Amino acid sequence: MVSSQTDEVYLDYQSARPVDHRVVEAMQPYFTERFGNPASLHGVGDRATEALEDSRAKVAAFLNATPREIIFTSGATESNNLALIGFARRNKRSGNHVVITEMEHISILNIAKYLEQEGFRVTRVPPDQYGRISPERLRARVTDETILVSVGWASNEIGTVQAIPAIAEMLRGTGVALHVDAVAAEGQLPVDMAAVPVDLLSISSNDIYGPQGVGALYVRKGVRLAAVTMGGGQERGLRSGTENLPGVVGMAAAAGIAAGEMSAESVRLAAMRDRLIREVLSNVPDSHLNGHPTERLPNNAHFRFEGIEGESLLLSLRDEGIAVSTGSACSSKTLEPSHTLISCGLLHEEAHGSLELTLGRFSRESDVDRVMQVLPGVVKRLRGLSPLYRAK
Ligand code: PMP
Repeated sequence: MVSSQTDEVYLDYQSARPVDHRVVEAMQPYFTERFGNPASLHGVGDRATEALEDSRAKVAAFLNATPREIIFTSGATESNNLALIGFARRNKRSGNHVVITEMEHISILNIAKYLEQEGFRVTRVPPDQYGRISPERLRARVTDETILVSVGWASNEIGTVQAIPAIAEMLRGTGVALHVDAVAAEGQLPVDMAAVPVDLLSISSNDIYGPQGVGALYVRKGVRLAAVTMGGGQERGLRSGTENLPGVVGMAAAAGIAAGEMSAESVRLAAMRDRLIREVLSNVPDSHLNGHPTERLPNNAHFRFEGIEGESLLLSLRDEGIAVSTGSACSSKTLEPSHTLISCGLLHEEAHGSLELTLGRFSRESDVDRVMQVLPGVVKRLRGLSPLYRAK
């Protein structure tokens, strides 16, 4: 997206997406004339309840689920907390072991540490060099004590997509529940709860061009959770607190648009992504693709450039009006290398030499043109200054 105000080329959709103007339009009345608290017993409250339940039905349809299976939250971090902590506490009589992967989003990693403090045992499964988790390797870590497995549908960093249908099939009938953080995948790949036996699934609104600060947890019928937030008992007692009505209406509108446009949008973005990858690898010497060559999100290109630091590259591109990322926005202000890249076997300096470019609904071929005009020269200049780089 080239913003008309700044002419900035925005290639950081994984960190934040603009809200679709159709979503803004749908939300607008809910700030003013259609305000209301769904818990109120008067007409204004009734209309708020109607909007809330209509939104729940739309989000459920997006996941091919039933409305009762949708719990609105403040975003994916909260959904992940409710899924893992709520499930572990409620089901601890069945076992005290939880399996996650080394690739998970920081929210899952930190929730897992918290569960360890509460007395649960956590196993972290490593991926292969492309960031893929082998279903068999995951299965091998499941014991009689295991109650829950949590795997992200796709990596928000390197874009690798996991074999969630195979993982879900493998766990079916074992009595072990499966939680999936689908934030990076939603709106880009079909996420169908009637087709894939997932028990708990986290989604967020902004990743489908809805407002920030809203999300949902899908809880398959029959799956029992303990509440993590105590209060007035909203959302079937699982997530107390007045619902964010404009936000929820926005998320539902975004879900409807995503359902209708996803297949065409993914094809368009995947073609643009492939061109970007092809041109970077052939025009920038000693550059490599991180993540899986084919099992990757349609909007994700993630590179490693030998001999330079991703941070210097990001700042030089920023000077040229190109917004990119060195990894997860959720932890980009730390100097630690990306845990995802390290878990794929990259050395610290290799992880530090990496850059993430993510496309989205408003990306144009001209954005890729602009990157290709600038990137090879910037890499060359930085390498000229780098004692680490030896041209081959
Ligand atoms: N999971 C994944 C895969 C993410 O990329 C993010 C951040 N967008 C989150 C969870 C947390 O989402 P939020 O910041 O909306 O709580």
